[in-house]
Amino acid sequence: MKLILLGPPGAGKGTQAERIAERYSIAHISTGDMLRAEIKAETPLGVEAKSLIDRGELVPDEIIIGMVKNRIGMPDCENGFLLDGFPRTIAQAESLMGFTGIDRAVCIEVPDESIVGRMSKRRVCPNCKRTYTVDVLEPDEDGGYTCLDCGTKLIARDDDRPETVQHRLNVYAEQTFPLIDFFEARELLSRVDGDKSMDEVADSIFELFE
Ligand code: ADP
Ligand code: ZN
Repeated sequence: MKLILLGPPGAGKGTQAERIAERYSIAHISTGDMLRAEIKAETPLGVEAKSLIDRGELVPDEIIIGMVKNRIGMPDCENGFLLDGFPRTIAQAESLMGFTGIDRAVCIEVPDESIVGRMSKRRVCPNCKRTYTVDVLEPDEDGGYTCLDCGTKLIARDDDRPETVQHRLNVYAEQTFPLIDFFEARELLSRVDGDKSMDEVADSIFELFE
């Protein structure tokens, strides 16, 4: 199964992607996670990507396309894959459809008003990468939060600052939102209501495939 997960930043793509990939035994490919790994390893690509990401800009298409094409060729993708955070532009989508077939693009729809609030509450574990919405956690004595899986102190992502979030939403509206029409025109699009609990959203995604 070859899937794409679409939706605005903060729609819960990462969380849903993990669940879907696990359920269908397919590889979870998150371009955001791949880029953050490059940043952490301080590779030339990581250094270039960091300044763009921190400003809420997209990384150039050629770089991302090369990265995904290479990743999809790896052995763990033989059974299929789920793309999370890619494609983000029409150019990326056209290129993708040129080098692989796609079975379905699932769009998680969330009203704009919900997104900024969600992203200000987002924290991530720097060790195991699990993401949280602080609502589900009890604060530590210092007001911070700790990962339930590995006990590491959670952090907010640099690009989740309110100024950057607004810019990312503009970039989404201009460059990524048109992909919904792109996949609809190819009869590959399914929509799910993302303004619900993580479990409810997961259930409506699984229903699409049953
Ligand atoms: P979110 O889903 O919260 O918006 P991601 O973790 O998917 O964030 O991506 C973080 C950042 O990485 C993006 O804002 C962008 O700068 C960069 N990025 C990720 N995927 C792509 C892509 N397909 N094309 C261009 N830039 C990307
Ligand atoms: Zn952790």
